[in-house]
Order: sequence, then C-alpha cells, then structure tokens
Amino acid sequence: MSTREILIVEDERPIREMIAYGLRRAGFDVREAEDCRDAKKQLADRQPDLLLLDWMLPDMSGLELAKNLKRDKETRELPIIMLTARAEEADKVSGLEGGADDYMTKPFSPRELVARINAVLRRTEPGGGDDRIEFEGLVLDRASHRVAAGERIVPLGPTEYRMLEFFMTHPERVYSRAQLLDRIWGGNVYVEERTIDVHIRRLRKALEAFGFDHLVQTVRGAGYRFSVRAH
Ligand code: CA
Repeated sequence: MSTREILIVEDERPIREMIAYGLRRAGFDVREAEDCRDAKKQLADRQPDLLLLDWMLPDMSGLELAKNLKRDKETRELPIIMLTARAEEADKVSGLEGGADDYMTKPFSPRELVARINAVLRRTEPGGGDDRIEFEGLVLDRASHRVAAGERIVPLGPTEYRMLEFFMTHPERVYSRAQLLDRIWGGNVYVEERTIDVHIRRLRKALEAFGFDHLVQTVRGAGYRFSVRAH
C-alpha cells in the first residue's frame, strides 16, 4: 500500500505539531494548514487521502468547511475526521450530518487517532476497503472469514466473527447493546439485549487464549468498546 497523506487543519500550533509528529511516526505523510483558507489552497493544489479538521478555526468553522467540501463534486469523496473540544460534544451529531465521516474529542492519544484514521480509510475506500484488518497482531481476514493471532487461528462462531468484524472496523467508540444489535444482527430481528452479553463473553473467551480479550471492553452504563487503550 502506498503512503497515505493526511492534511491537518488546526490553528493551535502545539496541538497541530503534536498530531503531525504522531502521524509521521505511524508512517503517514503529513501536511499542515492553520486555517480554512490555507486548507482550501492546499486542497486545490493536491488532495490528501484524509482531512483532519478542527472544529474551531479563526476564519471559518471546520464544520462549515466540511459541508462545503462534501457539496463539491471534486472533494465529495474526501474522508474527513472532525476534531472537537469537550464543550462541543452536543454538536457531534450535527457534525456527522454535516458530512464528516467521524469525529474525535480532544484530548486523544496518537494511537487512538491512528486507529480511527485507519478505520475511516478502510470504510471509505472503494470496494469496502482492505480484506485484512489488524490490531496489535490480531488479524481479521474478511476474504476467508478467519481471525488469526500470529500463526494461530482464533476459533470463532459466526456471530462472534461478525461481532469482532464490526468492532475492528469501528474501534475506539462505545456502542450500546441496542446499537450493537442493530448493527450486527440487523434491525428486523428480534433478539434480547442480554444475548449481546452472551456473545461478548464467548468472544472474550476465544480471544483470551491468545491474550487479546482486553481489546473488548465493557463501559459501565454505556455498552461495549473495542480499544487498543487500557480501560
Ligand atoms: Ca482550534
């Protein structure tokens, strides 16, 4: 795979440089812009593979820019991750409606950001993205429906496989039981929410033998999350 290029639009220089450093270390090519005007100029010059766009910018809101880019047929396909501050959490949903492919709330770790970027790149790639998804040595192969830890195959039932596939393509986000039912079983099947817990337990048990059960995390009162970070 060729090197992916990320354009970071963030006016706060220390934050921008910290993100750029983390992404370069993860093997991305990185360009930086300090406001929307600068970003538009750079986008006209050459399109990156993904735009990392801060919400609060001095000349125009990042959300406004995201909407404009999604309306323009030249830039419609450009994946966008919005960066938001805590106070703006209530606006997250409208950010997604406005055309961002995902969002991240500050502060976040470089690892978390890289995981999210890779997930968005996979989702937005033509044809549904890579067949092979990897987190820290746990590899899910969508072509063969197999999960491997190093050389060893992780034995999974079909539901646990679908569950893990969903988690690995949507990392670092909390999903409620209802959301998981909807996304993994589909909305038109009647399954009780506690069925989710049964399959989570089975998935964890299967992963435990290979030391990967910590990736499937319980978030009390909220649901479950697949994460490379500690709880
Ligand atoms: Ca800002």
